Amino acid sequence: MQPLDRSTIWPYRDGEPGDFYYQRYAHPTGVEAERALGELEGGEALLFPSGSGAITALVLAELAPGQTIALAEGAYYGTGALFRSLERWGLRFVEFDQTAPPPAGADLIWLEAPSNPFLTMPDLEAATAHPGRVVVDSTAATPVYLRPLEHGADYVVHSATKYLGGHHDLLLGAVVCADEAAAGRLREFRGRTGIVATPDSAWLLLRSLKTLRPRVERQTATAADLAERLRRHPAVERVRYPGFGGMLSFDIRGNAPRVERSLKTIMNATSLGGVDSVLESRSRWEGDRVPENLLRLSVGLEDVDELWADLEQALSHA
Ligand SMILES: *Cc1c(COP(=O)(O)O)cnc(C)c1O
Repeated sequence: MQPLDRSTIWPYRDGEPGDFYYQRYAHPTGVEAERALGELEGGEALLFPSGSGAITALVLAELAPGQTIALAEGAYYGTGALFRSLERWGLRFVEFDQTAPPPAGADLIWLEAPSNPFLTMPDLEAATAHPGRVVVDSTAATPVYLRPLEHGADYVVHSATKYLGGHHDLLLGAVVCADEAAAGRLREFRGRTGIVATPDSAWLLLRSLKTLRPRVERQTATAADLAERLRRHPAVERVRYPGFGGMLSFDIRGNAPRVERSLKTIMNATSLGGVDSVLESRSRWEGDRVPENLLRLSVGLEDVDELWADLEQALSHA
């Protein structure tokens, strides 16, 4: 394994700073993790202390006051909430249906593949035909299922807290840039603002990337199976599943909080992408933006029959 180097300083060589001299600007574990992620996405990766930190840095570094983001409606709730809090700094944002072309005049098109928790996929072709630059939050797809830069996107964003980290023990974010100059601007901004990820976080990402593919492939197999079983269940009104990945959402006939509280092996908790399955009603966070009876399930690595047994008994309390 790459050694974990927690140094904040490194000695100058012959009186000159080398590649590493002060941790805020770069550290060897971070550079190694960025190389690994950049290779997976086919671009230049930069780590940030969380997905939200990555989004904040990207928007502040690449946009100016008065510019507009077209945000996919139904995207991660926190992304819209974050853009709203930046409105007083001059950021504008509008929402649009990401399965259709983005609105004219947007400077940055913000897509999510697939959206969390509605599981729609963006029309990447329509977005990249628009003159605005294109960001794909690819947290749920992971580079195993989608490499947005190959489709003409300018930036990929990850909450590495989810599938890339994969164990519910790492808070981390990333931006992967298609363009080297954009990566350079973002790196400069990151060093100045100090929105940087620690060596420990970078080391955990390196550990996790070794198992990314088998984890998400197994999660896909289990999630696809559970989506089918849920579709046939009389207490389930609607299932949303894009056909890949470990996240799905479904609307139940009955009381969502009662189903949540009846779970025995699936954890009733927020977040997604880990080796342990978690389920929650999203209306507690998102209010009436989501159906009251919507449950989001993130499938872990447990046995599919064990998960189904728990869902079935919990649904009997709906
Ligand atoms: C969780 C999440 C984020 C925010 O990431 P944090 O690491 O929690 O800051 C952004 N986008 C998506 C799609 C997410 O699921």
